[in-house]
Amino acid sequence: MNALEATNRYFKRAVKLLGLDSKVERSLLIPFREIKVECTIPKDDGTLASFVGFRVQHDNARGPMKGGIRYHPEVEPDEVNALAQLMTWKSAVANIPYGGAKGGIGCNPRELSIHEQERLTRVFTQKIHDLIGVHTDVPAPDMGTNAQTMAWILDEYSKFHGYSPAIVTGKPVDLGGSLGREAATGRGVVYATEALLADYGKSISRQSYVIQGFGNVGSWTAQLLHEQGGKVRAVSDVTGAVKNNAGLDIPSLIAHVKETGGVKGFQGGDALDPDILLIEECDVLIPAALGGVLNGENAKDVKAKFVIEAANHPTDPHADEVLEQKGVVVLPDIYANSGGVTVSYFEWVQNIQGFMWEEEKVNEELSKYITKAYKNVKEMCKTHNCSLRMGAFSLGVHRVARATLLRGWEA
Ligand code: GLU
Repeated sequence: MNALEATNRYFKRAVKLLGLDSKVERSLLIPFREIKVECTIPKDDGTLASFVGFRVQHDNARGPMKGGIRYHPEVEPDEVNALAQLMTWKSAVANIPYGGAKGGIGCNPRELSIHEQERLTRVFTQKIHDLIGVHTDVPAPDMGTNAQTMAWILDEYSKFHGYSPAIVTGKPVDLGGSLGREAATGRGVVYATEALLADYGKSISRQSYVIQGFGNVGSWTAQLLHEQGGKVRAVSDVTGAVKNNAGLDIPSLIAHVKETGGVKGFQGGDALDPDILLIEECDVLIPAALGGVLNGENAKDVKAKFVIEAANHPTDPHADEVLEQKGVVVLPDIYANSGGVTVSYFEWVQNIQGFMWEEEKVNEELSKYITKAYKNVKEMCKTHNCSLRMGAFSLGVHRVARATLLRGWEA
């Protein structure tokens, strides 16, 4: 089952739980618009290279469509569609006034020079600039992109439409980015974990953690857990995995990654086979990298009591069933990693108001949103006697369906 089939399945289950009309179901399922563009750039060596770029705008009933742009070799239409749909439910679960979108370019940014990445980003922006907008569709970083990518989109977009900082979020602070945005997804993951653990009478500091992925989300999550006394026992990235049963020294690991480009070779722990990281002994497992990493096979051997989905769609539906049967509690992506898009919303609000918030205010507001959303998800779980995943899906779909019905269909 691919990411889109899996997402559609959860969506349809939520429709059933909520007793929604089939017309509403159809209207929510079909994306608002799917864009596919050719992006050809001259490489540094003078040859030409062509890539395919996508932007799927899923739904705008609750506000401008919002979601990241991913640069990764595995970017393909079904996955972008699934991720766009997940953004719609995620924004609704967080209760921010946005719909959902997602974009991407099928490329390996590690094989492109910084100049090639800039050219590719500018060409992609030229192809989609008429279809995005401050009040229609607002991109942000995702896997393989960062604040610099957003700065190029801002600059290219502004050539056509005039200076428009609110066209992207997750941009550099010097260009109107929000303080706290870079850490926001990881910080949100930690606030969400805190809310879940508190529900089980536990706290961050008494648990051990294993984190898959040490990019923006994984490294900030690790850092913040470490600061709160959590024991991060193992982490992995594309270069390898490291483990230390007494707990990794995360600030030293971050310094090592900055110096060498990956976790491999870190002296403060032992090398570990990245393939068995997900089944390592720990209380809390945090997949913070690619989708579909937990499947029917490896889920059987997961030792953790809690799985926090910092990545988008890391658990396939087979794994979901296996984990549920084992009594492992899964905190779903559309709630667990909503800190990123929530602070994106704060950034957009600041840009529109032409005003900047202190970082403390950003973090305080983020904490309020994450805590409130946890309560709302739990209420749905109680009403429908369902898992946290179905509680989150039902909440998201319910809010979007309500907005859709209020707006109506009459032409
Ligand atoms: N790419 C992030 C996500 O998947 C952030 C999206 C945004 O800030 O718009 O949630």
